[in-house]
Amino acid sequence: MTAEAASGPAQVDEVAGWVRTAGPAGVTVLTGAGISTESGIPDFRGPDGVFTRDPGAQRLFDLDAYLADPQVRVAAWQRRREHPAWSARPNAGHRALVDLERSGRLAAVVTQNIDGLHQRAGQDPRLVVEIHGSLLEVECLSCGWRGPTDETLARVTAGEADPPCLVCGGILKTATISFGQALRSEVLAAAVQAARGCDLFLAVGTSLTVRPAASLVDVAVGAGARLVVVNAEPTPYDGIAAACLRGVIGALLPLLVAGT
Ligand code: NAD
Repeated sequence: MTAEAASGPAQVDEVAGWVRTAGPAGVTVLTGAGISTESGIPDFRGPDGVFTRDPGAQRLFDLDAYLADPQVRVAAWQRRREHPAWSARPNAGHRALVDLERSGRLAAVVTQNIDGLHQRAGQDPRLVVEIHGSLLEVECLSCGWRGPTDETLARVTAGEADPPCLVCGGILKTATISFGQALRSEVLAAAVQAARGCDLFLAVGTSLTVRPAASLVDVAVGAGARLVVVNAEPTPYDGIAAACLRGVIGALLPLLVAGT
């Protein structure tokens, strides 16, 4: 599917015009797993998604199961070792958002992704709000110690299948938000502020089914922003969007920021 075939060039041009003429509050972009599939990282709910292929995999992302069952933690650490993010590179979609930043119109990238690809593409880390945390850091669920994931993964490779915290012996987990785990309040507050303050809110590569991330759309629209959904499949918010661009993100986003 090409960008034009899916959305029509006229609609793409119109949205590109909205990006170009966004007021001083600029553009806030909410990204989801769909922006990273073209970098080789599967999403959860798309046609080739992790949960679409194996609904049982959801248990590995559930906080209660992780705390209660050592086998879940062992499987989760193996999955982290093999995560495609370690070898993934940013794609044209990530790079387009860097171009948008350079144009001076980007207020923030609020991302549900944990892969760090926005920053690796060259996005100013101060403009990236990682509402679901980062795969690159590990935290202790007891004492709060934090450290780089690669050091803990080296312990897994050396034979510690479920490495405990070296400070207090507690359970370690990547500093990512699992199902059943609250978002960090200061991070959520930054995301809400970015949603409330923008002129144009782009929801890119997200099924908009995970809350509270999807509620940021309500915040933005409620505060008067124009909503554009860029996604291969329909979302629950399409009905209130000023435009829905259905196509491949790596093809669409560069068209939207060209000329900014
Ligand atoms: P999701 O899996 O629920 O939805 C992804 C959406 O993107 C789908 O509707 C799919 O059709 C669309 N999509 C996929 N590739 C696309 C492409 N190239 N062009 C256009 N559309 C495309 O993802 P979500 O809404 O972000 O929720 C999933 C949760 O899982 C998030 O909380 C996120 O933290 C986590 N997750 C992150 C990563 C990552 O960091 N890369 C990967 C998988 C899951």
